[in-house]
Amino acid sequence: MRSHIVLYFGKPGAGKGTRTQKLKERTFLLDDFMILSTGQMLRQAVADGTHLGQEAKAYMDKGELVPDHLIVSVVLDAIEKAAENQKSIILDGFPRNLPQAKALTDALNGKKIYVVDFPIADEIVIERTIHRRICPKCGNVSDDTHKTCNQCGTTLIQRSDDTEEVVKRRLDSYREDTEPVLDYLVKCPNVRLTRLYPTISLEEDPGMETFFRSLH
Ligand SMILES: [Zn+2]
Repeated sequence: MRSHIVLYFGKPGAGKGTRTQKLKERTFLLDDFMILSTGQMLRQAVADGTHLGQEAKAYMDKGELVPDHLIVSVVLDAIEKAAENQKSIILDGFPRNLPQAKALTDALNGKKIYVVDFPIADEIVIERTIHRRICPKCGNVSDDTHKTCNQCGTTLIQRSDDTEEVVKRRLDSYREDTEPVLDYLVKCPNVRLTRLYPTISLEEDPGMETFFRSLH
């Protein structure tokens, strides 16, 4: 398998992580993929003590945002490392804005980018979020039809930011910041867009399966 770059897009709560995890548990299709967030890549660079990591750490220590050019360099490093190890990479939450997206497409210079969009209606995200319950002990995610965790029996709790107000704010910022990035990327000639609409059952997710099979 060649080394691929996959970018995930979707509103918070669209099920990107869950569907990926389920596919990974069920098939071999994701065995050669690394799923990375910008935060993880930054922490790794800092832990490895790379030049970029040290630069990024200086900002993080001051509690400042790491500038776009540094984030892009860290991501490009991770992409290169993955390619060297014949691994593919799924980036979740990157690029976060237009300058990052432009820097990425410039640097990759024609290399194919697979963009996966997980469309979902706002109402579903809001419903899901306000009914979500979490196990404070093992992290198991459930909903308010259950009182206790089906894995360890602990009483489930609601996260303080799983409210309608907070989720609406998250959806607004997705529309303002992320949707323009998606619009830009799909116009790039080397980008292939796949839309994975919500699946009826997480145990059978033909859309996800077909997409990742096409990369093998
Ligand atoms: Zn539990």
